[in-house]
Amino acid sequence: MTAKIINGIEVSAAIRADLRERVTAMADRGVVPGLAVIKVGVDPASAVYVRNKVRACGEVGIQSSQYDFEANVSQQTVLDLIGDLNERPNIHGILVQLPLPPHFAIADILQTISVDKDVDGFHLYNVGGLVAGGTVFPPCTPYGVVKILEHEGIEIEGKNVVVVGASNIVGKPMALMLMQRDATVCICHAKTRDLAQFTILADILVVAVGKPNLILPEMVKTGAVVIDVGINRLPDGKLVGDTDFEGLRHKVSHITPVPGGVGPMTVTMLLANTVASAERRLQTQSERLLTSVAS
Ligand code: NAD
Repeated sequence: MTAKIINGIEVSAAIRADLRERVTAMADRGVVPGLAVIKVGVDPASAVYVRNKVRACGEVGIQSSQYDFEANVSQQTVLDLIGDLNERPNIHGILVQLPLPPHFAIADILQTISVDKDVDGFHLYNVGGLVAGGTVFPPCTPYGVVKILEHEGIEIEGKNVVVVGASNIVGKPMALMLMQRDATVCICHAKTRDLAQFTILADILVVAVGKPNLILPEMVKTGAVVIDVGINRLPDGKLVGDTDFEGLRHKVSHITPVPGGVGPMTVTMLLANTVASAERRLQTQSERLLTSVAS
């Protein structure tokens, strides 16, 4: 079997084209979606991520505003800015680039972002909504994985899904989102004994760990769908995922490459959440107007 290599750049481009149309439709009604991006310190990786997000906003017509702070800024200063951005009607999404310097209590920062501007989906309300239903913003990376599966026409309902990696930003929300779509989900992590006995059962295997070559061909069922979220830089500078891509591509039905698989989707889903936020606000305003006219 030769796998279909899922092109995340192509899937991303299709979603961004749709977003551009929705942004244009809103512009006709006088609204431009706005995203505020807050960065603290000089972490080089964070600088690249923020630059990519700001550029992507420009591509689809989202107005981004960037707030850069020195690493020694007080937490209160950042909390005050978030409080201010929460109130601004031209801001529909607020993103704080992680990681933050050690003197920050990340939970306090994330819980201060208004639930209806939490486009990263990290506020406890949005996380809780993944369990109970009613999340306002699905977190971007797992949301991107779901969109890839949908775009490829891969059925989720009733499938055995194994998620390797149980972080708050990828593994756990991923598992919840797939469970919500009626998959039978198993989550593996660093303490899982004999990883292969679980991965071999997967119809859909999502791997988000950060270890090159963790998943080898003998650990995967023939014809499985493999989504590799991992990003690892090898000593020679090459970027790879968590799976043995060359080995697996002759055994599975679909696989995402690294780079060019899940990565581009994460930023795209941030854009999607921001556009959805602006649309929701517009809808609420229209409903209020109708109610006031009617009464
Ligand atoms: P994390 O370090 O927060 O979590 C890693 C998870 O892997 C933990 O749950 C840990 O228990 C588990 N784990 C560690 N060793 C394991 C092993 N041997 N077997 C099974 N599980 C093991 O990482 P994260 O933030 O979730 O990111 C995971 C990977 O995904 C990283 O490579 C990261 O760079 C990448 N990532 C990619 C994107 C993207 O847009 N493509 C977005 C976020 C993260």
